[in-house]
Amino acid sequence: VRENPDEPEFHQAVKEVLESLRVVIEANEEQYRKDALLERLVNPERQFKFRVPWVDDSGQVHVNTGYRVQFNGAIGPYKGGLRFHPSVNVGIIKFLGFEQIFKNSLTGLPIGGGKGGSNFDPKGKSDREIMAFCQSFMTELSKYIGADTDVPAGDIGVGGREIGYLFGQYKRIKGLYEGVLTGKGLSFGGSLARTEATGYGLLYFANAMLKANDETLEGKTAIVSGSGNVAIYAIEKAIQLGAKPVSCSDSTGWIYDPEGIDVELLKEIKEVKRERLTAYAEARPSAEYHDGKGVWTVKADLAFPCATQNELQLEDAKALVENGVIAVAEGANMPTTIEATEYLQENGVLFAPGKASNAGGVATSALEMSQNSQRLSWTFEEVDAKLQGIMENIFLNVDAAAKEYGFDKNYVVGANIAGFKKVIEAMNAQGIV
Ligand code: NDP
Repeated sequence: VRENPDEPEFHQAVKEVLESLRVVIEANEEQYRKDALLERLVNPERQFKFRVPWVDDSGQVHVNTGYRVQFNGAIGPYKGGLRFHPSVNVGIIKFLGFEQIFKNSLTGLPIGGGKGGSNFDPKGKSDREIMAFCQSFMTELSKYIGADTDVPAGDIGVGGREIGYLFGQYKRIKGLYEGVLTGKGLSFGGSLARTEATGYGLLYFANAMLKANDETLEGKTAIVSGSGNVAIYAIEKAIQLGAKPVSCSDSTGWIYDPEGIDVELLKEIKEVKRERLTAYAEARPSAEYHDGKGVWTVKADLAFPCATQNELQLEDAKALVENGVIAVAEGANMPTTIEATEYLQENGVLFAPGKASNAGGVATSALEMSQNSQRLSWTFEEVDAKLQGIMENIFLNVDAAAKEYGFDKNYVVGANIAGFKKVIEAMNAQGIV
C-alpha cells in the first residue's frame, strides 16, 4: 500500500488472496520470510506503460495509455487478456494480473499470469477508428510478447474484431505467423468453442458445485448480470442445462424477462447489431427494461455476476439472501466485494470465486495455444469436452483443498490454496529469480 497507494483494486485482490491463505502461510512462515516469497509473489516481474497515439475519422489525434503487466511466469508463458475501457489504470491491470496467476495455475495447464489493456473507450468508435487504435497499441506491445513468452487474449472491450486487428499488426511488424494471441478468428488459428468457453465453463463449474451439494441446475431460475461475451454464453449453457435465466444487464440498465431470456435475440442485439439492451425490451413483449442498477433484486435461485468488478455489493448480497438464492458463481473477475462474499458464505449460500469458476476462458485459450503449436484444429466437441473435464477437475481440486485445510465448502479458500501451492512450488524450485 505504501509503495503503490493509488491501486485500491490491486490491494483488495491481494488482501482477499493472502487472508484466505493464512493457514498455509502460517505453517510455512519462516521459509516464506527468508525467501521473501510473498514479496516476490505480489511484485510483478515487469510492467510496461506506453503511449498509444491514434487518429480519429475527422483527422484529430488522440493519445491513450497502454499497459502490459507480466506478473508471474513460474509455470508458463504469461497469459491473460487485454481490457479496453475508460476505467483502466495500472491498479486495475495489476489486480487482474494477480488474480490471473492463480486462475491459470488452477486450470492445470502450463500458463503464467499477466494482463494488459488501455483506457481507450471503444464505445461509439467506427471500425476504422478501432483498427487505428489496435494497430498503434500493437506497434508498441509487439516488443514484449511472443508465442513462447507472453500470449494476450480478449477481455472487456476486446473481442474477435479487436483480436483480428491486433494479430494483423503483430504479423506485419514481426513477420511471424505464430499463436501470439488467443481468441483469434477461426480462419486464422482460432479455436472452436473459445467464444463460448468462459460462459459455458462457468455453468460446468456451477453444475459440479451444485451436484456436490445434492442440488441441480434443472428447474432453477437464475439472475445473470452483464450482456457481453461471458453473460451471453452463461445464459446459453444455463438454458441447455435446464435452468431459466431471467435477467441480463449493461452499464446503463437491466432486463427482467420472467419468460426466460431469449438468447438468440440477445446475441443478435449485442453481437451483430451492437445495440443497447433497450432494443431487447422493444423486441420482446415479456421483458421489462429498468434504468440503472438493480438486477440483484430479482427473485431467483442462482446468481451469476458476469459484468465487471465490484458490481455485487453488501446490500445486493442481502437482497439475494432475502430472496432465497442458494448459489452465486462469478463469471466476471472479482464482481463480488469481500463484504458481500463473506455475507453470502455466512448465510449458507454456495459461492464459486471467479478465479475458479471463470477459468474456462483462459483454459480454452491454452488449448488454442496447443492447437497453434501443433498446427491442428480440433472439433467443437473435442474442445468442449476438454473444457468440461477441466472445469470439473478444477472443482474437485478446489473442493479437496478446502477440505484438507479444514474449510469444507469454502471454495474461496480452496481456490486460493490450490492455485497458490503449485505456483509457490515452481517458484521455489527455480531459485531466487
Ligand atoms: P464484454 O465487454 O463482452 O462485456 C462486459 C459486460 O459488462 C457488458 O454488458 C458491459 O456493459 C458490462 N459492464 C462493463 N463495465 C461495466 C460497469 N462498470 N458497470 C456495469 N456493467 C459493466 O466483456 P466480457 O463478457 O468478456 O467480460 C466480463 C467480465 O468477465 C470481466 O470481468 C472480465 O474480466 C471477465 N472475464 C472474461 C473472460 C472472457 O473470456 N471474456 C474470461 C474470464 C473473465 P456495456 O456494454 O454497457 O459496457
